[in-house]
Amino acid sequence: MPVQCSSCTEKRAVLKRPKTGHSLCKECFFWAFEEEVHRTIMAGELFKPGEIVAIAASGGKDSTVLAHVMKLLNQRHNYGLELMLLSVDEGITGYRDDSLETVQRNQQQYELPLKIVSYKELYGWTMDAIVKQIGLKNNCTFCGVFRRQALDRGAMLLKVNRICTGHNADDIAETVLMNVLRGDIARLCRCTAISTASEGEGVVPRCKPLKYAYEKEIVLYAYFKKLDYFSTECIYSPNAYRGHARTFLKDLESIRPSAIIDVIHSGENLSVRDSVKMPVQGSCSRCGYISSQMLCKACMLLEGLNRGLPKLGIGKPHRLHEKILSKQPLTEEEERKLKPAVF
Ligand code: SF4
Ligand code: ZN
Repeated sequence: MPVQCSSCTEKRAVLKRPKTGHSLCKECFFWAFEEEVHRTIMAGELFKPGEIVAIAASGGKDSTVLAHVMKLLNQRHNYGLELMLLSVDEGITGYRDDSLETVQRNQQQYELPLKIVSYKELYGWTMDAIVKQIGLKNNCTFCGVFRRQALDRGAMLLKVNRICTGHNADDIAETVLMNVLRGDIARLCRCTAISTASEGEGVVPRCKPLKYAYEKEIVLYAYFKKLDYFSTECIYSPNAYRGHARTFLKDLESIRPSAIIDVIHSGENLSVRDSVKMPVQGSCSRCGYISSQMLCKACMLLEGLNRGLPKLGIGKPHRLHEKILSKQPLTEEEERKLKPAVF
């Protein structure tokens, strides 16, 4: 017998909500999903009327749903925001070039302005060239650090007040787990924040309107709305460490669906002893971006790439950093340590 929608009790249910277990028809699911995002935005006071907001758009399901829902809620609830799309071209042939075509179609569909910034123009390197030099280890470290700064630089060019990203509940729970596993207390404290103020010159405030949206529901929403998104994985993935955290979380979720929200909740309520040392934020002596070291991570990684010593910016700040920055020659043994292993 067909199941009735438990919300309107009129139409036939087409899905069981992963978050609540309710059987809903399409329209009631859309409404529930959208209004939950609206409540998240209101409760977190994520935007102010009149702000210009860049939606970080990759063409993937999360950012496509974010762009769709932001446009819709902005109209439905009169947020008074000026929205635009901001994309990063990492220079990954066969992946990003295709997904950027999706973003370009989204731009037409949602009638939003689009700005694309590329690693090639910002750093002089594409991810293809980086992987050629370093191999398939640590490539996501380069990519993640460069993307963060690229979004800020793009946002500065567009003169936006805020960037919103498509991070969903699963992403945040994974990050909490990863930071616990790495013992990275500073990141653990920051990673559950729904919005961050500008941390310094050149850093644009960010927020995550999909923070409490389950990935499974984002997929269902995109599917039933027939949104145009790109679903192929990056050819240089997986980021092995995140992949393990993801699998672990998915296993937990299959036994206990609330595991995702529970992990986020634990992260949000952690308090750190005063005696724990936190990095002191200053600014990079080369590019001015926030950094707790003399050079920011992006400049350090770039320095390593340009010198053919790509391990330079990987891991904890290296004791050779100062020597390199003050242009003292390295011994053969020191050079060898910073070269890529044979892949
Ligand atoms: Fe970049 Fe890694 Fe993501 Fe590919 S999987 S886009 S290399 S961070
Ligand atoms: Zn820098």
